Amino acid sequence: MTNNQTLTQLQSQKELIWLNPDYQKSSTQKNHEISVDKIEEARQRLIRFAPYLQEQFPELMKTQGLIESPLTPIPQMKKELQNIFGGKIDGQLFLKEDNQLAIAGSVKGRGGIYEVLKVAEEIALKHELLVNIDQDYRLFGSEQMNNLLSQYTIQVGSTGNLGLSIGMMSAQLGFQVIVHMSADAKAWKKDLLRRKGVTVVEYKDDYSKAVSAGRQESDANPKSHFIDDENSIDLFVGYATAANYLKQQLHSQNIEVNAQTPLFVYIPCGVGGAPGGITFGLKEAFGPHVHCFFVEPTNAPCMLLGMSTNQHDKIAVTDIGLTGQTAADGLAVGRPSSFIGQMMKPLLSGSFTISEKHLFLFLQTLYKSENIFIEPSAAAGFNGLRFHSSDTFQTYLRKHQLTETVAQSNHIVWATGGRLVPQKEREQMLQFSPEPI
Ligand SMILES: *Cc1c(COP(=O)(O)O)cnc(C)c1O
Repeated sequence: MTNNQTLTQLQSQKELIWLNPDYQKSSTQKNHEISVDKIEEARQRLIRFAPYLQEQFPELMKTQGLIESPLTPIPQMKKELQNIFGGKIDGQLFLKEDNQLAIAGSVKGRGGIYEVLKVAEEIALKHELLVNIDQDYRLFGSEQMNNLLSQYTIQVGSTGNLGLSIGMMSAQLGFQVIVHMSADAKAWKKDLLRRKGVTVVEYKDDYSKAVSAGRQESDANPKSHFIDDENSIDLFVGYATAANYLKQQLHSQNIEVNAQTPLFVYIPCGVGGAPGGITFGLKEAFGPHVHCFFVEPTNAPCMLLGMSTNQHDKIAVTDIGLTGQTAADGLAVGRPSSFIGQMMKPLLSGSFTISEKHLFLFLQTLYKSENIFIEPSAAAGFNGLRFHSSDTFQTYLRKHQLTETVAQSNHIVWATGGRLVPQKEREQMLQFSPEPI
């Protein structure tokens, strides 16, 4: 498909698959400002904080303080999808359940919490409340530490989930927190944050406006740290730590990832930080044998638009006549991160879009078949499997010599959120009636 055809199709709001022309099978990731060491450093930092986190959040007992999620085989869902798509899905289908992540209940728990912990560690070291990094980090729960951190402010712009993760973690450590929320953010998310003592500032505008207002306000205060969803390297490496744990999970379920058994991964994309970080980590872990695809709503395909036109953050979905509005509030982003778009050039295999009605179809089908509830954003990944029979996808398989091995492939749909969605909202989402395909 030419760029022009892609643009026309995006404008028509039809679901589409796009292959990234700059994808390089053998990308070594060498010339990046983000090194592999940084991911390992992040992983070690999270391990240092694990005893503190486990003490503060009893729900982290299961994972010994690590903010990690199950990798769940979903064979019943695979059957349902085969019925829906009318074709066979090769290999095993797994759900990566970041919908269950502790504290934040979404993928934002990986990056957001990591960055807050890193800021807290830096301040504690500077003021010598923490003398060295080998100390027992449970001291982050002490009154003295709380008093110190309460002199500092953390700020963030958010469509909802990032604000939740940063707000919950920062408030627990004692920080002052201001979350700048876009119009799409759900009322229950704002309420939950306010109950934790977080200041929530609401904007009538979209997400980019909330971010820039937050950034300005934070820059004016020397004791304020702004968590920058569009450019933060710390968020990015926090997300990237997912890969190491996933590697262990696959290993313990006897799933190989190699030339004979490729792995396909489908990750919902908003501004790009979470799926970008995860993809970076996965490519590091599995090289050319993992094939990462992003999924975005047909109304807000900002990363696909930015990457396919090479205009990145210079173009917004509203520039091509789309609204940017979607029930997938975590993906309601009109303008992508340019930092991520550039990083993904050699790493990302391609992107898909998904319509609003299919978000709900998958959300409901998963609930019925596997008894797992996820939020609309998190259901987007399933649409990836729809495109396996498309000509475009077949082209991808031929180009990368996968036509023989695809029958042995495995699939991971990245479920990015859902645990904190209140019961009433869940019922509405489960009852909403999508049209049949
Ligand atoms: C934020 C979010 C995403 C996408 O992450 P980005 O970093 O914005 O690309 C996906 N799903 C959910 C539920 C989210 O909250």
